[in-house]
Amino acid sequence: MHNTDEVDNYPGFEHITGSELSLKFSGHAEALGLETISQEVTAVETGDDFHQIRLSNGDVLKTYSVILGTGGSPRKLRVPGEEECHKGGKGVSYCAVCDGFFYRNKTVVVVGGGDSAVEEALYLSKIVKKVYLAHRRDALRAGMLLQKRIKEEPKVEILWNTVVTKVNDDEKGVCSVGLKDTVTNETRELDTDGVFIFVGFLPNNQLVPDGVELNPEGYVKTDEKCETKIPGVFAIGDLKEKYARQIVTAAAEGCTAALASSHYVEIKKAGG
Ligand code: NAP
Repeated sequence: MHNTDEVDNYPGFEHITGSELSLKFSGHAEALGLETISQEVTAVETGDDFHQIRLSNGDVLKTYSVILGTGGSPRKLRVPGEEECHKGGKGVSYCAVCDGFFYRNKTVVVVGGGDSAVEEALYLSKIVKKVYLAHRRDALRAGMLLQKRIKEEPKVEILWNTVVTKVNDDEKGVCSVGLKDTVTNETRELDTDGVFIFVGFLPNNQLVPDGVELNPEGYVKTDEKCETKIPGVFAIGDLKEKYARQIVTAAAEGCTAALASSHYVEIKKAGG
């Protein structure tokens, strides 16, 4: 949410930026007494009586219940040049809001056909001279509203049935990409100043304790209370297996898990 420019499908807000909405969320929760600890969690250890959260400063929090909401990270394309040009800050990015301003009046290639790729391509079109949206099929996966908007945006050219096969750079950074037509197998080079990759997310499940069930893609399986197979351990948001990945579904899961978790804690405190 924080890396999204415009959010236009959160109820009650026709248009709001992702960072504004996230500040509203945290401000609201803090006003109601939320205490925040700014430490990295190094391990979540489960136990019969209580669970333990290990922090990077050496502290250990003992808790009856824990709600995991560690989200996801961008999936990589895994093509030659991608990692080198990302790590070296040479023109491969996974966040248009973070890096878009480097490309004012330049040309960029956006890869993907889902909500993220289309949203980010629309955001970039407000800054850059030209956006090529390279999608591997002949139909977008993104929602209908986003599809309509991207097709009407004159600065965006959709490259249908197209995959990026490599990222080329020179002394100034990214200079072109290798493209392949997935129908004809024809290949070509396209000049560009930057490449923005939005080909899905992978769940950040590194802290998920043993005994919690994951689906084959690595998302946490829960019941309708967002509780995992381990009593008192809950999972929400992009970490959780589910149908719709939107801010409103993540918020609803946060609410569900909080209610179920506090009920669980009351039972534990009563000796249950
Ligand atoms: P996504 O929905 O999984 O879409 C990934 C896109 O990348 C698909 O179009 C896919 O092509 C393409 N792709 C995957 N691997 C590829 C590869 N190796 N080479 C080329 N293309 C590849 O991911 P997302 O757009 O990041 O969205 C993730 C979730 O968050 C979704 O559930 C989405 O609805 C949600 N989301 C919602 C909003 C919103 O509500 N406004 C905004 C952002 C994200 P195919 O279509 O051929 O599979």
